[in-house]
Amino acid sequence: MPSASFVGTINAVINAGLIPVFCDVDIDTQNITVETLNAVRSRRTVAVIGLHYGGNPFEYGIVNYCTDHNLFLIEDNACSPLSSYKQKFTGTWGDFGAWSFDPMKVLAAGDGSIVYSKDLNLIKRFNTLTHLGLDSELGCKRDSKE
Ligand SMILES: *Cc1c(COP(=O)(O)O)cnc(C)c1O
Repeated sequence: MPSASFVGTINAVINAGLIPVFCDVDIDTQNITVETLNAVRSRRTVAVIGLHYGGNPFEYGIVNYCTDHNLFLIEDNACSPLSSYKQKFTGTWGDFGAWSFDPMKVLAAGDGSIVYSKDLNLIKRFNTLTHLGLDSELGCKRDSKE
């Protein structure tokens, strides 16, 4: 995860029983890069949390890097709700993307968030974990024709 981030993201990693490893950010974009990520990756690395800082997408090469090294890619999209690169919205590149609607964010809606994944099994597991372990679609039902 980036050394420049929000404390809530770090707390989520610690609460999951994992050890956060901080990655340097580019001085101009404040985003992690393939180079700074590669400098801290170890055999024990299981996931990358990339933050699209201040509306600037991190370099897309990180998506391929995570695929090549079998790492989950979680996109912290709290600060970049409508950012894109080559017509692909940030938050939809990796395994998970998270948007925040906190009153201090670009897209404020009182509170709340969106978590996205293109993997329906991951979304089902996420829904179960956010409903106290219950297999419930309460509040998360979607009408899909896919
Ligand atoms: C605000 C913020 C979060 C947390 O979002 P909440 O919806 O308040 O939990 C995470 N990451 C970044 C970069 C943020 O700015």
